[in-house]
Amino acid sequence: MVKENKNQILREAAGDFTKKASMLSSVLEIAIAGSVAGGDLYPNDLDISLIVNNIEELAQISKYARQMSKYYHGWEVFLFDKNLSHLGRVCHRKECPSRSVDCCVPGCGDPPYLRIHSGFKYDEKIFLSSPFDILYTSFKEDRMACPQR
Ligand SMILES: [Zn+2]
Repeated sequence: MVKENKNQILREAAGDFTKKASMLSSVLEIAIAGSVAGGDLYPNDLDISLIVNNIEELAQISKYARQMSKYYHGWEVFLFDKNLSHLGRVCHRKECPSRSVDCCVPGCGDPPYLRIHSGFKYDEKIFLSSPFDILYTSFKEDRMACPQR
């Protein structure tokens, strides 16, 4: 039996997410970031960067994100607006805000499905300089390589 490595499994999860999320009109770009994009065969988790025009379809986006858990539970979807300002991360909960531990973190659920703080310090320089594999883009030029400030 051929055993897939974890990198392949996480890429499958990201591909599945991309197939669905790229159909949403608010989604502008989807990329794999971090160690999976860097080719690590045994990455800790799957980091996806998602550029959106607005957060109106966040409930749908979070549903598709949660469906990645059937491949692996360790995923994070980092949301950015079209100027590459970090908006927050997608909540893992089906109901957000809920009374679960995750959603008790201040900033989760306001708006629903968006986690803004949770002891996580977003470092734009590190994040944006990490390897990226763009799975879907509606931009003509490469936004990730050249973020607009
Ligand atoms: Zn939440």
